[in-house]
Amino acid sequence: MGNEAKVILISHLGRIKTDEDLKNNSLRIVSQRLSELISKNVKFIEKTRGVELEKAVNELKNGEILLMENTRFEDLDGEKESKNDDNLAKYWANLGDIFINDAFGTCHRSHASNVGIASNLPSGIGFLVEKEINILSNSINNPKRPLTVILGGAKVKDKINVIKNLVKIADYILIGGAMAYTFLKSQDIEVGKSIVDEENIDFCKEILAKYKDKIILPIDSINAKEISNDANVEEKFITDINKDDIGLDIGYNTVKLFKQYLVQSKTIIWNGTLGYSELEKFSNGTKNICEILKNIDCTKIIGGGDTGAAVINFGYQEYMTHISTGGGASLELLEGKKLPGIEIIDDV
Ligand code: ADP
Ligand code: MG
Repeated sequence: MGNEAKVILISHLGRIKTDEDLKNNSLRIVSQRLSELISKNVKFIEKTRGVELEKAVNELKNGEILLMENTRFEDLDGEKESKNDDNLAKYWANLGDIFINDAFGTCHRSHASNVGIASNLPSGIGFLVEKEINILSNSINNPKRPLTVILGGAKVKDKINVIKNLVKIADYILIGGAMAYTFLKSQDIEVGKSIVDEENIDFCKEILAKYKDKIILPIDSINAKEISNDANVEEKFITDINKDDIGLDIGYNTVKLFKQYLVQSKTIIWNGTLGYSELEKFSNGTKNICEILKNIDCTKIIGGGDTGAAVINFGYQEYMTHISTGGGASLELLEGKKLPGIEIIDDV
């Protein structure tokens, strides 16, 4: 803005499937809030194409900012934004001279508003995308070691590619969350009614056999008969889980075990909460790991939407090196994939 450029801002909000969604997802409030935050008027045009939009763009003076309506409004008629419609991308590209992509959270998708425009204009990345790529890629490609990865979350299925990629790179992988029970079951341990990803038991068995010194599983578990804050909770050694138990968090001995690996690490990447942390009763494992990380001085990176939200909710944001702003995008980087929204950019 120091160069008095005319700036057109574009973004998406929510998913647009019905006329009702149009009413609930206008970016008008974003222009108002942004005006407050930067103490500068941000104009708003409630169109995503057409003469009114073109007029608003043509009338922009140097140094002025115009926010266009939600790009996903173009999804109502044939998902033109989400399916990267070529005409729409060319039309948007025609409105400006240079394209800067700073929407890290959508870089793993190929939309008209990112890949489409970048295919038609000279392009660059913004400061947020630069920071996300530098921190996440560096921590995988060139980590200070030991590199320890903490993996949790509900399903093995969602994280298979993360495990496959990181098991080769990391020094240790600490596994908690519901995911751990599939790994335990693959070792013929009774896990009761805990979430088990039956289709991936063999995968867990194979990867454990191959990397048995790297992959660290829980040694105790917080169990209940129902998923509720009123449930009666029992902490049990992993081999004592009953047929009617649901495993909902890692136990205290597991926290102590994980701590031994974490305190010696120089880089820690964490994806997936370690228990059903939405409920207070099953949030202690995740909170205890937050507390341990708080007191460790090393590179600490949080990827994943729910994990980031938990770390922020529990008040540990300031102790982390970086909390990624892109759930899906950060996971794909951890899987070792290239992100289409970034690959298409000229200067990276
Ligand atoms: P992220 O969004 O950070 O990638 P995930 O979505 O993979 O993380 O994992 C978070 C989800 O995993 C939360 O909704 C949490 O309730 C669930 N989860 C973690 N541990 C358990 C468990 N033991 N039983 C059931 N759900 C669990
Ligand atoms: Mg999630």
